[in-house]
Amino acid sequence: MSKLSSVELEQEYILQTYARPDFVIERGEGVYLFDTAGRRYLDFVAGIAVNALGYGDPDVTRAINEQATRLIHVSNLYHTLPGVDLARQLVESSPAFDKVFFSNSGAEAIEGAIKFARRHALEHFGAGKNTIVAFEGSFHGRTMGAVALTAREKYRAPFMPVMPGVRFADFNDGASLAAAMGDDVCAVILEPVQGEGGLRTATSEFLHQARALCDQHRALLIFDEIQCGVGRTGTLWAHEFYDLAPDMMTIAKPLAGGLPIGAVLLQQRIADSIHAGDHGTTFGGNPLVTHVAKTVFAKISDPHFLAHVREVSNYLDESLNELAADMPGRVLELRGRGLMRGVRIAGSAGDVRIAAHDQGLLIATAGDDVLRLLPPLTIETHHVDEALNALRRTL
Ligand SMILES: *Cc1c(COP(=O)(O)O)cnc(C)c1O
Repeated sequence: MSKLSSVELEQEYILQTYARPDFVIERGEGVYLFDTAGRRYLDFVAGIAVNALGYGDPDVTRAINEQATRLIHVSNLYHTLPGVDLARQLVESSPAFDKVFFSNSGAEAIEGAIKFARRHALEHFGAGKNTIVAFEGSFHGRTMGAVALTAREKYRAPFMPVMPGVRFADFNDGASLAAAMGDDVCAVILEPVQGEGGLRTATSEFLHQARALCDQHRALLIFDEIQCGVGRTGTLWAHEFYDLAPDMMTIAKPLAGGLPIGAVLLQQRIADSIHAGDHGTTFGGNPLVTHVAKTVFAKISDPHFLAHVREVSNYLDESLNELAADMPGRVLELRGRGLMRGVRIAGSAGDVRIAAHDQGLLIATAGDDVLRLLPPLTIETHHVDEALNALRRTL
């Protein structure tokens, strides 16, 4: 019998829920990945906005080693040190919030936010105020609650019935949101910059309308900053751009440098209606993950680091505008903000993503016709040049 390649072995033994290209990634260094054939790829996916510090950051490696030696896990039955320190860092850097709940993933942070919103409504307004309004183009995750809030039919339809009590409104459409509101609504959830759904950015007018409608209907405003938060758009939180704050916020992807984590940040008045035993998790916020997240968060929230993100974002913006100007029939629209950018093209985004591999570039997609660029936040302008040249050749 001939020896199976690792790709063939994977098809043999791993549930085939992913469509992967046929190279095997072996290691990373800075903003580059290397496959088993020794080929180098400039990484403008960053583990789907997870690897904000790139690969092999020495402080992240040191933090993992330090805490792995000391204590990895004891469950949430006991007090430990690192989670408290991280929660304090998060609360102190975000004036809107007072408390943190840790989970293991983005979807679990969303599940937590759903439960906290309904628990809060039950305590203050009694039964029946349990509907959550979400938006067209949203993506909140794959669990039964999170997927119920995710607009795209293909994620939900095969798994019905998903969590009931959800209404959808049109994104950036205040009238549509107003029509979806009612006394039964306990929360409105949205991404200030939509990720999977196509990189659309919320307008300031729309977010202020959403804030006002939530206040009017005594519903909580929840921002899902799992992809757009923690420095991605050039400010620590994407909502800083709009000069308003939500009542709850979910974060996850980049927070622990590639280790699995999620978190819900919430106001004290919501925290007051959550009691011991209402929610929980075995792994969430364990000492290893939160110790590493302290290091990652301290690096990203440094004003110099965020200034770098804005500088290189501006350069990426100029470069993308040049590309769009040079290829008017092919590049149709630029979307997103900071280092979270969408390029809507004529033709299949999936085909371009695959073809870019031959140019040594990894990019993601959002829907059928949008290329999604999510580089590590540590990229320099020469990496932008390299990526845009590769993208230009690919297109
Ligand atoms: C990725 C993502 C999620 C889900 O996170 P998982 O860790 O994959 O469960 C939720 N919301 C947004 C905006 C995301 O980008």
